[in-house]
Amino acid sequence: MSPRIIDGKAFASGLRARVEAETKRLNASHGLVPGLATVLVGNDPASEVYVRNKNKTAEALGFKSVSLHLPENAPEGEVLKIVRQLGDDKSVHGILVQMPMPGQVREAAVLDALDPAKDVDALTPTNAGLLLSGRAHLVSCTPAGVMMLLKEYVGDITGADALVIGRSLLFGKPAAQLLLAANATVTMAHSRTRDLPGLARRADILVAAIGKPNYVKGDWVKPGATVIDVGINRVDAGNGKHKIVGDVDFDEAAKVAGAITPVPGGVGAMTIVCLMRNTLIAAAALAGVPPPAV
Ligand code: NAP
Repeated sequence: MSPRIIDGKAFASGLRARVEAETKRLNASHGLVPGLATVLVGNDPASEVYVRNKNKTAEALGFKSVSLHLPENAPEGEVLKIVRQLGDDKSVHGILVQMPMPGQVREAAVLDALDPAKDVDALTPTNAGLLLSGRAHLVSCTPAGVMMLLKEYVGDITGADALVIGRSLLFGKPAAQLLLAANATVTMAHSRTRDLPGLARRADILVAAIGKPNYVKGDWVKPGATVIDVGINRVDAGNGKHKIVGDVDFDEAAKVAGAITPVPGGVGAMTIVCLMRNTLIAAAALAGVPPPAV
């Protein structure tokens, strides 16, 4: 039987419409204009595309959008100064510092300079700690998007065995916390895990955020499981062209899974819209108005 395809693109489009409607409403009622600032250091082409798309989406939703681009050799002090200035800027409610940083800039120092109230990627120790304490206000965008898709397509995941492969601050760790808060029984795996295929075969919910194309094979998937593929990998498609594939071998996994996210069109489609949602939530909180219904 064919699996249910988890359509992140369709869900993201509905969420985007809700964010846009709430932005208009809060603008009319409170004169609120959410402001998103992006900070990019260096010229990594993928990061440039991500940042451009974030600014474009913010503008399309009626947000103020500020884009700061520093050279590859920008000293750490300059990056920290900009991040602090954005923290003081009343017209900016969300600050996204595109990682990774070039070697001379310590990411921990940047995160320490970032105002947690404007940390729309939820990477600061304050926001990571609030999530751990069950009191999160801003939740990391991609894990938040995954939880929305699970709620929509699976519903109650109480007692389900969930395996998260990958333990990054950006995805794996917050995803595991959110799954735990939703009462799943959570296992985290990483590059030192023994018998990853064996662990994967026990998972009702298999989440892969590894960064290795087609790494998770079909015979790792428990029949009927929900497979969430977070990976975004650019691979050679022949003819000098590239294509994007996930961390899961989709064709193999789709023969066994009960539901699966495609790449592209699955998790990736959710991330930018969740960032806009976080910016609107941050803007409302900073302006002291009731939280938006998004
Ligand atoms: P990351 O920081 O590089 O983390 C990768 C994780 O995978 C690490 O925890 C690593 O383990 C683990 N890993 C590496 N090789 C492994 C192996 N052979 N077996 C088991 N685990 C292994 O990456 P990330 O930022 O979390 O991103 C992961 C993937 O998701 C990438 O493809 C990225 O592009 C994608 N992503 C997509 C979105 C989106 O919007 N859809 C957002 C964020 C990330 P160790 O900790 O032991 O090294």
